[in-house]
Amino acid sequence: MSFSYLTHLHCPKCLQTYPSDKIQQLCECGSPLLADYDLESLKRQWKPSDLAGRPNDLWRYHELLPVSSPEHIVSLGEGMTPLLPMDRIGLDMGIERLWMKDEGIIPTGSFKARGAAVGVSKAKELGVQELAMPTNGNAGAAWSLYAARAGMRASIVMPVGAPLITRNECAISGANLNLVNGLISDAGKMVGQAVNEHRLFDASTLKEPYRIEGKKTMGLEIAEQMGWELPDVILYPTGGGVGLIGIYKALHELAVLGWIPDRLPRLVAVQAEGCAPIVKAWEEGKPESQFWPDSSTAAFGINVPKALGDFLVLEAVYKTNGCAVSITDAELLREQGTIARLEGAFVCPEGAATFSAARKLRESGWIKDGETVVALNTGSGIKYPETVQVEAPVLQPQDRMVRL
Ligand SMILES: *Cc1c(COP(=O)(O)O)cnc(C)c1O
Ligand SMILES: [Zn+2]
Repeated sequence: MSFSYLTHLHCPKCLQTYPSDKIQQLCECGSPLLADYDLESLKRQWKPSDLAGRPNDLWRYHELLPVSSPEHIVSLGEGMTPLLPMDRIGLDMGIERLWMKDEGIIPTGSFKARGAAVGVSKAKELGVQELAMPTNGNAGAAWSLYAARAGMRASIVMPVGAPLITRNECAISGANLNLVNGLISDAGKMVGQAVNEHRLFDASTLKEPYRIEGKKTMGLEIAEQMGWELPDVILYPTGGGVGLIGIYKALHELAVLGWIPDRLPRLVAVQAEGCAPIVKAWEEGKPESQFWPDSSTAAFGINVPKALGDFLVLEAVYKTNGCAVSITDAELLREQGTIARLEGAFVCPEGAATFSAARKLRESGWIKDGETVVALNTGSGIKYPETVQVEAPVLQPQDRMVRL
């Protein structure tokens, strides 16, 4: 058996194929590329029981990951995050079987670690020495830290408004960090220019094909953790949509392998009302989204006005009979507090949005009685201290404690 069953890459738009043994970025037609595996051979040679006893991280699925040789793996122990029952908040919103896939405890503090682990590992295998990327914060933090572990140079450009801690993560890892007085789209233009001038590896969202493969492992894990029986609904906070595309790809591959039923969960793309291009496109029944002007939301990770892979996100939503929902910042911040009070989980604002969406979809009847629902919390609330307003009495040493 091979370590990886990766065979080649293909373009989902024009169907052109590319070899996977050298560095590839976008297709000639401008579309992102997707990784293909020899699923037919794998189906004959690989069974769920083969996973027993493997390390409890995402590399347990190495056959379905792109790295050919284990010595190229760059790992900080990412993956196999808890799938937690959320009974109390579930009761509060009338969803009896509500689960949270909790990415809040993963290295670097967000699920961007998955994409970075697999993306950096494959880049290292292909001989990349320096990468560059624009980011809204978490991706830059994760790729900087994994690049440092790989001994690779990283250049990161992020908006000055990105969460401060992500700036610190880039800086401490020794990345070449630039801040831009603008949006991620402005950062993207600068990176594009630098990539051309200095012939750097462009690690921008979906401009290299392996970040998706890392994020795909969330889908593999949910399936394994549920005993290969899938939930009815999975809700995902959607910016670039890489995680949603990845989960859809993972479930599709598992279905081809015969490990799960053919009927996939309904995938829900959750966005913020201040930046909801996918929701608008879905409401209009369109295959692609349009640039969302003046986007803004407290959930910084999903502030993406136009995603390169929007057509893939929408396809995943349409094909699974899912939907797309937007949430106001007030709603998602209120939900973040409710989750902490009822469940003891300090989720990130993006994660809170998925719970808020579940509440809405239950109220509207879209989520039906007795259905099993998985909400993705994509990062730790600890990374966003500014979203919580604290009103606490300040005492002098001789005062008595106030008990409200
Ligand atoms: C990047 C990010 C998202 C959105 O991820 P995509 O896969 O790009 O849609 C959601 N939540 C957090 C915390 C993020 O950092
Ligand atoms: Zn193409």
